Amino acid sequence: MRQPLVVGNWKMHGSRASVASLLDSLVAAQRLSGAEVAVCPSHVHIAQAVERCAGTQIAVGGQDCSHAEEGAYTGDVAAAMLADLGCRWVIVGHSERRQYYGESDALVAAKASAAVSVGLQPIICVGETRAQREANEAEAVVAAQIQGALQAQEDLAGLVIAYEPVWAIGTGLTASPEQAQQMHAYIRSLLEGIANVDAQTTRILYGGSVKPGNASELFAGEDIDGALVGGASLVADDFRAILECAARQR
Ligand code: PEP
Repeated sequence: MRQPLVVGNWKMHGSRASVASLLDSLVAAQRLSGAEVAVCPSHVHIAQAVERCAGTQIAVGGQDCSHAEEGAYTGDVAAAMLADLGCRWVIVGHSERRQYYGESDALVAAKASAAVSVGLQPIICVGETRAQREANEAEAVVAAQIQGALQAQEDLAGLVIAYEPVWAIGTGLTASPEQAQQMHAYIRSLLEGIANVDAQTTRILYGGSVKPGNASELFAGEDIDGALVGGASLVADDFRAILECAARQR
């Protein structure tokens, strides 16, 4: 049995004041049972989030980490720094990082490995572009990303995969429940072939314009174990509603 997980990716949004008010609303709603929840604010708001979520069921994560342990990497944040702040999770390989910063599968693999080495649970994002889906390359692209990120890892404790079709992120377009379930089942079949991964217990999240109105039908897919939520996670009522859908799914 895989416990549903819903993760909010706040991207580069927020101020101390708006983060405080969003966290207040979420903390008030965290009595939900059945779904695990995490929020990933910008690095500068992590300490504030960890402090506010202490003693609640809400875990905190980073949106990215360095592949390097420490050193002369101006602007980077080490996985150990996130762990030291109290993070449990870190997103790696988000399509915005791949697209705007040219992150390769090898770099994503190194970041995931850096995360696991300090006890963080990596959420590894994969997904195809619209052109790749239209060219019938979606599965091949996702397979290359999964294998590139996971194949050579010795330890993948706590791994979570997020399937996020790039064409659905922040666009209002969502994969149909059938498209999403089909890809999630395919990802699980790929995980079966990877050493050090337990495919049946690894959670696979869907991401891409998840909202209260489409969450339940997405979560009905047997291989869809929750969501990575961008835009809707910045609206407390919407994020809460998505969490309720996930909790009911259990
Ligand atoms: C994301 O950025 O991970 C995401 C899924 O965004 P949105 O929900 O806004 O599409």
